[in-house]
Amino acid sequence: MRQPPKIVEFEITTACNLRCIHCYCMAGKKSSNELTTEEIKRVMDDLKEMGIWAFDIVGGEPFVKPDIFEVLSYGKEIGLQLMINTNGTLVDRRIIEKLKEANPTVMVGVSLEGATQELNDFVRGKGSFEKAIRGIKLFVEGGFDPVILHVINKMNWRHFEKMIDLAKKLGVKKIYVDRFIPVGRGVQSKKYLDMDDREWVAAIEHVRDVINKYKDEITFYIEENITGDPCTAGRSHASILVDGNVVPCGHFRYNKELYMGNIREKPFSEIWNSYDPEKSLPLPEVCSDCPFVKSCYGGCKAVSLHRYGSFEKQDIPLCYIRRKEKGFSLKSWGW
Ligand code: SF4
Ligand code: SF4
Repeated sequence: MRQPPKIVEFEITTACNLRCIHCYCMAGKKSSNELTTEEIKRVMDDLKEMGIWAFDIVGGEPFVKPDIFEVLSYGKEIGLQLMINTNGTLVDRRIIEKLKEANPTVMVGVSLEGATQELNDFVRGKGSFEKAIRGIKLFVEGGFDPVILHVINKMNWRHFEKMIDLAKKLGVKKIYVDRFIPVGRGVQSKKYLDMDDREWVAAIEHVRDVINKYKDEITFYIEENITGDPCTAGRSHASILVDGNVVPCGHFRYNKELYMGNIREKPFSEIWNSYDPEKSLPLPEVCSDCPFVKSCYGGCKAVSLHRYGSFEKQDIPLCYIRRKEKGFSLKSWGW
């Protein structure tokens, strides 16, 4: 038996009131194949039994899903730690009250792509900044401890420090930081949001510096595609898609060859225990004799596949940064 995953993400719906230009699952319409409430409860029982740390409900927008409060309440009933990622724009006092009743210990994340209307609404759509800020304030007032979910892209990385100021003003103490990867709708918008490798190096280094500066004031949850720690896909993380298919990371949503199985056919625990990440997500050859391989493992697998087209390529910006930090000569890179 393998170690259970730490976090399992679950795409509860693809329905969404927004049309963010980076959205990995191209959310908008409800999928015809969504798991039923009973199927969701069965997965939750299985995950509780496995001993995972948290079940992270994502979308689409979870608050448009009619049975969301039943699912949240079931998590409380069986003692499974839940997280919910929302765009925050539909949140009102009624939702806060229902949430408190259904699951007062759920960890809430609200997406924000910048500290200004301009930066945020470019990605998430007109009017979304104001509504998300109102939502965050309501969560704070309601006694939740929301996390701002922030994805670094070409437009916003230079303004990352302003996100910290905004979080502090809003009474938010936690920020999750991720990196833009061109998947789903992100493929069409990569000309605005993606960067070349050298700019990614600058962006990642800048974000790390800002995090370091504020680490005593804010709790940061940093995706390993920024920290440079080994990719967790299929190792301590998996995502269950809206139709029950399981992928090692949500970024492989459209790569059927990487599917681990479907929970409509087998319990998640069985799928997880028969999965071998070394086989499905192989190490690039260049990494095999690298002295840093154990602490790096080639970087983000989704970056390898979606930016360079193959797992044969390492995550070049992270590789460059690590080698630079370790004092390796970078002459051969020609940068
Ligand atoms: S530092 Fe570069 S070559 Fe070494 S393991 Fe990481 S990505 Fe691979
Ligand atoms: S593929 Fe990238 S985004 Fe997905 S778990 Fe690995 S490092 Fe994180």
